[in-house]
Amino acid sequence: MTLRSINPATDQLIGEYPEHTPQQVAEALAAGQRAFLAWRHTPLLDRATGLHRVARALRQNRGQLAALMTAEMGKPLSQSGAEVDKCIVCCEYFADYGPSFLGRENIRTEATESCVVFEPIGVILGVMPWNFPLWQVFRAAVPALMAGNAMVLKHASNVSGCALAIASLFKTAGMPEGLFQTLLVSSQRVAELIASPVIRGVTLTGSTAAGVSVASQAASLIKKTVLELGGSDPYLVLEDADLPTAARLCAASRLINSGQSCIAAKRFIVVESVRQEFESLLVREMQQQRMGDPMAPSTTVGPLARRDLRDELHSQVERSMALGARLLCGGSIPTGPGAYYPPTVLSGVHKGMPAFDEETFGPVAAVTGVGSEEEAILAANDSSYGLGAAVFTRNVERASRVAAALEAGVVFINDFVRSDPRLPFGGIKASGYGRELSAFGIREFVNIKTVWRA
Ligand code: NAP
Repeated sequence: MTLRSINPATDQLIGEYPEHTPQQVAEALAAGQRAFLAWRHTPLLDRATGLHRVARALRQNRGQLAALMTAEMGKPLSQSGAEVDKCIVCCEYFADYGPSFLGRENIRTEATESCVVFEPIGVILGVMPWNFPLWQVFRAAVPALMAGNAMVLKHASNVSGCALAIASLFKTAGMPEGLFQTLLVSSQRVAELIASPVIRGVTLTGSTAAGVSVASQAASLIKKTVLELGGSDPYLVLEDADLPTAARLCAASRLINSGQSCIAAKRFIVVESVRQEFESLLVREMQQQRMGDPMAPSTTVGPLARRDLRDELHSQVERSMALGARLLCGGSIPTGPGAYYPPTVLSGVHKGMPAFDEETFGPVAAVTGVGSEEEAILAANDSSYGLGAAVFTRNVERASRVAAALEAGVVFINDFVRSDPRLPFGGIKASGYGRELSAFGIREFVNIKTVWRA
């Protein structure tokens, strides 16, 4: 099989990549294992130096990497550049703080000496999505490598150019041969990778369906998994919110990456007394966006990553409208090439509609009116997902109360949800389990070993 990259702004084929053969995969896994056996004994400070070199290589190749991401999956170029910058911050953060997160912890007991040490476990398989082609990979790989593991990457099939560029970047930065490798394989062959005795853990970022498939197979072989899956993040707008600020931040969150982010705001749960005013502010924000060529500096919304994804999003909008949702703006597929979909606002959305029950992976905002704070919390939690959530209110006490009641892995107050290497990131319920980033993330793929001396 051949993996194909198609520019979603033009529908042009920009790359064809033959899949790696079983023989090539076997050789790569063996190389990964060899690299791991040496890297696990490499001192923490030397691993950190390697990550600083990777950061430098990212800086040197920023423009090229950004353009490649935009060509393969359509995100506006300015956002691609910012994504490279975020990867640089991630490398530097784990290079600087990784050694302290992984240092031995002495525990006082009746033993002469007792302590906990954090040891790497082996080659980790990263199964990654196309929406942040660099960032998703770096945030999984950097802590895993800092902890002394090796990684093989199975990236999404539509971003093979990025997948290869990342592997060559690690090489350019002088990281050991085999430490980070890209395998060009389709999702059908992930099972073959998980089954290899070389693979000791799997981190998957992607849809819930992919998570179920990968986690069940890994579980049958007692292999650790971290799952970062979909979300339908609720943003609660209470009657005492600063509405213009809330609408601006809600639109910004809904439209980041042209709406294709797991932690994009998706459901807007608004107290009825301010709903109409919020809706008109939100519609104005959405209509101010510039949709178009993602390479143009003024573009804020690019095409979606693939036509089939755009068509699925449109179907969710149409099916929600058939069930009574009202269209306030957007909602129709533009003519011409590219997988474009305009910023769209639906009102009167409720449970039972796709815009409420499913993840909408594109620039579609779904507004649900509620009578009170309590009803807002019930509606927010009435979802199979539990990734991010936000609440807008001027009352600090109320904000803390609502934040505590929300079923989510991440809650932001008066701001939109984003990931940060200093803070743990991940979800609950169908959004997955385990954490990435921070001291919590770096300890996901380690053997937390107890040592006791009598
Ligand atoms: P996807 O279709 O699940 O693909 C993600 C990765 O999994 C790709 O590499 C894909 O390979 C592979 N894959 C798909 N089905 C598989 C299976 N049955 N077995 C093994 N591997 C499989 O998701 P996507 O459309 O690329 O990405 C969008 C989804 O990712 C959204 O649901 C989004 O919310 C989620 N996401 C979550 C986070 C988070 O941190 N929680 C972050 C970003 C994205 P192929 O490309 O070859 O199919």
